[in-house]
Amino acid sequence: MAALDGLPPLREVIQRHGLDARKALGQNFLLDLNLTQKVARTAGALDDATVFEVGPGPGGLTRAILALGAKKVIAVERDARCLPALAEIADHYPGRLEVIEGDALKTDFEALALEGPVKIIANLPYNVGTQLLVNWLLPKAWPPFWQSLTLMFQKEVGERIVASEDDDHYGRLGVLTGWRTHSHMAFDIPPQAFTPPPKVTSTVVHLTPNENPIPCSVANLEKVTQAAFGQRRKMLRQSLKPIGGESLLVKAGIDPARRAETLSVEEFCRLANSL
Ligand code: SAM
Repeated sequence: MAALDGLPPLREVIQRHGLDARKALGQNFLLDLNLTQKVARTAGALDDATVFEVGPGPGGLTRAILALGAKKVIAVERDARCLPALAEIADHYPGRLEVIEGDALKTDFEALALEGPVKIIANLPYNVGTQLLVNWLLPKAWPPFWQSLTLMFQKEVGERIVASEDDDHYGRLGVLTGWRTHSHMAFDIPPQAFTPPPKVTSTVVHLTPNENPIPCSVANLEKVTQAAFGQRRKMLRQSLKPIGGESLLVKAGIDPARRAETLSVEEFCRLANSL
């Protein structure tokens, strides 16, 4: 398709730079610039924002974020083959795109955050997406250094992120996300929109910080959710036995005959605070 930003079509960029997709790097590229704009628009106004992007690849989403007016984009990409293609985008938008070659899991995003609101937008590599989200949910300080996260996941992971009690997908990830953020699934993207197409549907999840989460220790919350969801079909008096069982539940004011998936985030926090 003809690109509105005056840069060459992504198919041509990929061909010219020999960017054949590598499965080990989770490379499923989005080449439709209308779609990448739709993802970027989900993050809201970008004019005065610094945007962190993980895995820009050939730069389809990067271009959309820049075209929508982001003041600065800092993109972390592990695959050095993509750097020349990204350098062309940086030349087109002088001073607005910085590319860091490296592993996003080892990147200290907080240390890179400049003044102004920080938004994180990424079509994440599926093998590291959940870990990156958890890292962003557990920074040293809260509210965090970011104002919003707009992230693409496999749909099944998106469902776990936004799930609340009594939902089949509710588990440790849903409790953590529900505790610290407001989240929703914005829209799905079918496999055929990607090159090459993945096996499953993807979804874009948008998260903003809950400014006042219930005070609670992360370590304790993880202990209770791990024990509770480790045996999710059992009654809590049984699944929580190793960390206090019935007496812990009574202390927290929770019926020991209930099961993990029926507890709200607030009740999990009460359990964590009773440990
Ligand atoms: N943003 C591009 C798009 O939307 O078409 C590419 C998305 S592709 C799903 C994931 C990208 O993440 C690839 O470019 C891959 O090389 C990169 N990547 C994989 N693992 C990474 C890591 N640990 N740190 C940084 N980038 C990584």
